[in-house]
Amino acid sequence: MFDRIYRSTVLGVATQKPIENLVRSRAWSVAQRFVAGEESSSAIQAVQELQKDGVLGNFDLLGEFVTDPATANEFAEKILALQAQAAAAGIKPYISVKLSSVGQGMTQDGQDLGLQNARRIVSQARELGGFVCLDMEDHTRVDVTLQQFRTLVGEFGREYVGTVLQSYLYRTEADRDGLDDLTPNLRIVKGAYLEPESVAMPQKADVDAGYRRLVYANLKSGNYTNVATHDESIIDDVKMFVLSHGIPKSQFEFQMLYGIRRDLQKKLAAEGFTVRVYLPYGRDWYAYFSRRIAERPANVMFVLRGMLKG
Ligand SMILES: Cc1cc2nc3c(=O)[nH]c(=O)nc-3n(C[C@H](O)[C@H](O)[C@H](O)COP(=O)(O)OP(=O)(O)OC[C@H]3O[C@@H](n4cnc5c(N)ncnc54)[C@H](O)[C@@H]3O)c2cc1C
Repeated sequence: MFDRIYRSTVLGVATQKPIENLVRSRAWSVAQRFVAGEESSSAIQAVQELQKDGVLGNFDLLGEFVTDPATANEFAEKILALQAQAAAAGIKPYISVKLSSVGQGMTQDGQDLGLQNARRIVSQARELGGFVCLDMEDHTRVDVTLQQFRTLVGEFGREYVGTVLQSYLYRTEADRDGLDDLTPNLRIVKGAYLEPESVAMPQKADVDAGYRRLVYANLKSGNYTNVATHDESIIDDVKMFVLSHGIPKSQFEFQMLYGIRRDLQKKLAAEGFTVRVYLPYGRDWYAYFSRRIAERPANVMFVLRGMLKG
């Protein structure tokens, strides 16, 4: 219950414009722990650094809830440019996309603009040998995102596009079962948005238990599974599970966020697991940064100390 109160307080305060202006102007040096720079060149450099430790990257151009088609198309162009730039630098372009940022819910030529832009992005990823993961946003977008995921897998193949399931939503186990016919590539997360209790479990213990159930079921179904968490007890349990069920290392990977548990990222990579770090970059870093702060009380002190220093 404390987790929920803390998260809703931080996210509530963070949406107030004066707070946003203050944090934006004073906390960039702090935000850089979680954000790999404002430009794509910094993100590419950050991936090259990670690769020295045997850790792979997952690019995420920051920007959410775009409200007009021109901005959505511009955003899609930036992602296309990033994919080309990464490939030119010798990096397989693995990227994450929030469909809201490329026009999901807007109509262009009688079709959903998010889906049209996602097609362009996945098509280019396929040409470049890359991969696109459709991030999961708040619960109002789950139905449409899963439908669009199904469409994209049908058109391009599961080797080039995946999506995310959040264990805090009551609906997710049924969603996972419903995707099995695609043998999909799925990232399992706990969930980062402030959701009403009518749709999301309020107790952390239930979210954690649901997380384990989802990962185990997904692995048992033979689906490629991205175990995206920093929760070491879950990571240890997954290691035991795969060992006892004879699941090969080629069927799953661990994923973490840039700047969080770097020690664990390196350790898992050294143990021979595939480890991929989600690497957000871009000028629109504030909402992402607020969610990271809302996840952990110690991070508020980290921000305040950084702002006082700055
Ligand atoms: C690769 C990746 C992709 C993601 N994609 C999505 C997505 O598409 N949609 C979505 O809703 N959510 C996404 N998330 C966020 C996710 O839902 C959780 O909010 C986030 O991962 C924190 O949960 P946890 O599993 O690490 O467990 P928790 O129980 O929250 O944390 C476990 C431990 O991890 C460490 N930790 C966790 N968060 C932080 C932090 N902010 N700062 C410092 N230490 C921390 C602490 O040691 C903590 O005790 C993603 C997460 C990852 C790793």
